[in-house]
Amino acid sequence: MQKIIVIKNLTVKYGSNIAISDLSLHIEEGAYVAILGPNGSGKSTLLKAVLGLIKPTSGEIRIFGKTIDEIDPKLIGYVPQIKTLDRTFPAIAIELVLSGLSKNWVFRTSKKDKIQALKILEQLNSTDIAYRHLSELSGGQLQKIYLARRLVRNPKILLLDEPATGVDFVCETNFNEILSEYAEQNKITILMVTHDWTSAYHHANNILLLNNHLVYYGPKDKAFTDENIKNTFSHFAHKHKVSFTLKEQDL
Ligand code: ADP
Ligand code: MG
Repeated sequence: MQKIIVIKNLTVKYGSNIAISDLSLHIEEGAYVAILGPNGSGKSTLLKAVLGLIKPTSGEIRIFGKTIDEIDPKLIGYVPQIKTLDRTFPAIAIELVLSGLSKNWVFRTSKKDKIQALKILEQLNSTDIAYRHLSELSGGQLQKIYLARRLVRNPKILLLDEPATGVDFVCETNFNEILSEYAEQNKITILMVTHDWTSAYHHANNILLLNNHLVYYGPKDKAFTDENIKNTFSHFAHKHKVSFTLKEQDL
């Protein structure tokens, strides 16, 4: 397997606050990596560093053997949390998908683009909502439209930052299922920050546990040991009492 993302001794600081400390790992092509850790553990910072939105304080990230500045930005797709969406935005679903293809809004789209967008929607089981207004979509449907907006560019790597936050459980399960099927068929590599440990265990093949430093990266069956969970949730500076019964608010 090709190493598609190689991270070496990555440290990211915001002022004196260390968000990521000396992280090294590589991700193989086609991996589906779930990134888990408490609030403030550096998960979003890691995605932003891979996207090139944040410059490492030290260390390096290579994607397809190149630096972030050297690769074609289309190779990486980013799906944000959908809670940030403005639903009053006057558009229909397929327009939002097509907007993924261009920097401008979609007044001019080719037939080829439209066919491509519809093909992606079909793969995501969402053909029925292609011509609905965004304000008429459920959270889960909207989430798939946002996903389609990225997939329409044929990325090789997809980064998702808690895409399911605020979406009900049924939608979330469906989303993860569809995403993993799509990833397998199209051989894309996925890094997904999630709060949902059960779903991560079910769909991901690799787990990354972060607590500002790397706690664990590897196959899912060895990820959730007592030791790893303790180290994921224990605080660096001032030790909190760690409870081994995970409550939703801890995740
Ligand atoms: P997570 O996504 O795991 O909740 P983040 O990567 O957002 O964590 O944050 C990691 C640490 O970096 C936290 O201590 C957070 O307060 C800090 N941080 C994140 N973004 C910024 C920023 N733009 N400026 C200053 N500090 C930040
Ligand atoms: Mg975050």
